[in-house]
Amino acid sequence: MTAIRTTCPYCGVGCGLLATPDGKGGLTVKGDTAHPANLGRLCSKGTALAETVGLEGRILTPQIGGQPATWESALELVAARFSQAIAQHGPDSVAFYLSGQMLTEDYYVANKLMKGFIGSANIDTNSRLCMASSVAGHRRAFGSDTVPGTYEDFDNADLVVLVGSNLAWCHPVLYQRLAAAKKARGTRVVVVDPRRTATCDLADLHLPIAPGSDAALFNAALVALADRGAVDARFVADHVTGFDAALAGARASDPALTGLPAPDLETFLDWFTTTEKTVTVYSQGINQSSSGTDKVNAILNCHLASGRIGRPGMGPFSVTGQPNAMGGREVGGLANMLACHLDIESPAHRAAVQGFWASPAMADKPGLKAVDLFRAAGSSQIKALWIIHTNPAVSMPDADRVAQAIRDCDFVVVSDITRTDTTRLADVVLPATAWAEKSGTVTNSDRIISRQRKVLPAPGQARDDWRMIADVATRMGWGEAFDWPDAGAIFAEYAALSGVAGALGRDFDISGLQHADYDALPPTRWPVSTTRQGGRFFGDGQFYTPDARARMLPITPRLPEARTGKRYPFRLNTGRIRDQWHTMTRTALSPRLSQHIAEPFVEVHPQDASELGLAPATLARVTSPEGSAILRVSITDAVQRGQVFAPMHWTGETAASGRIDALIAGVTDPVSGQPESKAAVAALQPFGAAWYGFAVSANAPALLQADYWATARHAAGHRTELAGLEAPADWEAYARALFGLPGAECLSVLDARRGGARLAFMAGGRVLAALFVAAEPVQLARGHVAAQIGADNPGLLAGRPGAGQADPGPTVCACLNVGLHTITAAIAAQRLTSVEAIGAALQAGTSCGSCKPELAALLARMPRLEAAE
Ligand code: SF4
Repeated sequence: MTAIRTTCPYCGVGCGLLATPDGKGGLTVKGDTAHPANLGRLCSKGTALAETVGLEGRILTPQIGGQPATWESALELVAARFSQAIAQHGPDSVAFYLSGQMLTEDYYVANKLMKGFIGSANIDTNSRLCMASSVAGHRRAFGSDTVPGTYEDFDNADLVVLVGSNLAWCHPVLYQRLAAAKKARGTRVVVVDPRRTATCDLADLHLPIAPGSDAALFNAALVALADRGAVDARFVADHVTGFDAALAGARASDPALTGLPAPDLETFLDWFTTTEKTVTVYSQGINQSSSGTDKVNAILNCHLASGRIGRPGMGPFSVTGQPNAMGGREVGGLANMLACHLDIESPAHRAAVQGFWASPAMADKPGLKAVDLFRAAGSSQIKALWIIHTNPAVSMPDADRVAQAIRDCDFVVVSDITRTDTTRLADVVLPATAWAEKSGTVTNSDRIISRQRKVLPAPGQARDDWRMIADVATRMGWGEAFDWPDAGAIFAEYAALSGVAGALGRDFDISGLQHADYDALPPTRWPVSTTRQGGRFFGDGQFYTPDARARMLPITPRLPEARTGKRYPFRLNTGRIRDQWHTMTRTALSPRLSQHIAEPFVEVHPQDASELGLAPATLARVTSPEGSAILRVSITDAVQRGQVFAPMHWTGETAASGRIDALIAGVTDPVSGQPESKAAVAALQPFGAAWYGFAVSANAPALLQADYWATARHAAGHRTELAGLEAPADWEAYARALFGLPGAECLSVLDARRGGARLAFMAGGRVLAALFVAAEPVQLARGHVAAQIGADNPGLLAGRPGAGQADPGPTVCACLNVGLHTITAAIAAQRLTSVEAIGAALQAGTSCGSCKPELAALLARMPRLEAAE
């Protein structure tokens, strides 16, 4: 089989892949050394892609009301209900909610239907939750949503400031690129983050800033640039307006808001004002804020004032979360933009797009942004809603209310690849093709358009998104405008429209790309036109405002609202973990990705934990005014006192109560509409479990009766953490129901006095399942126990390897399955002193490298580990 060049479907780094089908429905994956984004590197998630392409959980037929239906009847129903709502209540009574997982061609068709034919701009995307504040900040400063730089700037910078960006876990291949640059040229790295993340392993300086105070830090930087003679007066005079007002605003702001020690702040200001080649990278820690747009502009102010933009090794750099968040921005997937970076507020731009589409009803004002869109769905303002490739019942802030809004909406369609919390609420479910089964383009964080190519056949009745949207448009009466033979024809139309935008003076112009180029299109950085090809923007001082000058803005820092005072004394920060992606619909299928962190957790500072009576590995109930969750307690001084961190990934499918976005308020930035996902208010208390359990089984649990549960894959089946407020009377009966094994042979060791129980279920001498129960958090060698499923080993009830058998411990290196105990033992026995030495001894960290920060942290902790032993 021939390897096919395609692109990773996870983060905005946009790594190129070589995917080779195995002829049996599977494939192998490796990094594409020819792709400029990754040069062959992959992280743990990209490396494990082959484990996620199976059909488990896939939706393979259309469904109406939960029952299988034909495509014809489903499409007819969708078209009829949308047409009916529009006829009775007007075009703004319907909405689409899309996803940064969609391909550009899919986005283009959805946007064309909603904005150009239905005549509403009620089309928004989960990218609103990811980087809408960067879009708004770019447009305010540059007059366009333009990322000025390229990834090569990471290689050429002397100082890289990472703000609200856990690059090591969220954009691992960029992290590795930065690590290589640091090694090669001694690049200084500053990490600005309230939490000490894995990225701090690379930091020369970590600034644990007060939550939400980033604008105060960059205001201080702007003042320092002015006072220390680091302003580029010529660039400002020739190409910028608003300098004096921005500086006056910065002088009025108080650097003490950052909460940083004065010496650390001074070190940062010294480096930032004296290093010409400085790149400021910002991500969700900046964007996911009720003042995210102002934070972005505070950063852009500094780069404009110092003229450090659009030249090699310098500039502001927004790194996006999703694989095609950038493509969605370019194609008009947001409710407040037209395609090709044209402005919905501009009559000339609207007329140009309408003329190009020959469309009957052009949207003439911005539509509802994500948070408002779901509020409107819940209040009957939206009568028909189509949700595509996203799971808002889990991922939207105030997720419980969003789930209720979806339930309450008159008519909801969901297209997706797998069953999710959201598909369960839909009137119509449409089976979509998945990453390896469809063909199109995506744009990564440094403006490279890459082909995603079809590697596997579509299973069941799954269809491409663009085709089902076009099929509905046809049934609504607009077949001629939605009649493309393939995705390449859609891309060609989009490229031609971008030529119209280019003629109107916009940045996004790919009119140099033709249909004939499509199949073999190599990774290509936009713009691509007769006048411009790739490269950086703004080095020439020409911006996309009416006077071609950039705008500096006065910024007054606004901290997150206190809202409820002492009832909720903690700030809840949310984010990603290393080996999972969004709501885990794909990554949870990979056993090795589930070994690193297998259940939802909350990080708590040791002193806070002590005062709250939270012991390590117990459970905490975390509450906010919006909702609650039950999470495993991880005690660490990586978080500051008064702050806690919890991951965003767990759903109602993978945990009893781990949907962290149920705790996030729908408080949004007034400019971008992006929600505050990094600084919710919260309270913690011990969960008070009467019993804890750990279960392993060949099959998925049949009946999860527990106040707390979280289930994950392992190589031989499933592993499940359990806990309850009241112990069952009969553990064997409980376990038989849990595993769905009413007749299997049972071996048990019961300790009623101490509240313990160990049960194994066998068939033909092989272990089918086992349950371990204790009054305290269950302590045993989980990896060893899980590995006994299918083995002839009733001795697994010991919970530990026998004499002479090693216990590798929890997985650290997911690629090569190297555990914590193996690594610490090797460090001690072989006196290993570097990550490279661990790699040479155990291979750990030598594949994708995503675990290198944890290996470094282990080395740093070893004296403590040895003392503990
Ligand atoms: Fe995929 Fe990892 Fe590359 Fe992101 S860094 S695109 S998740 S391989």
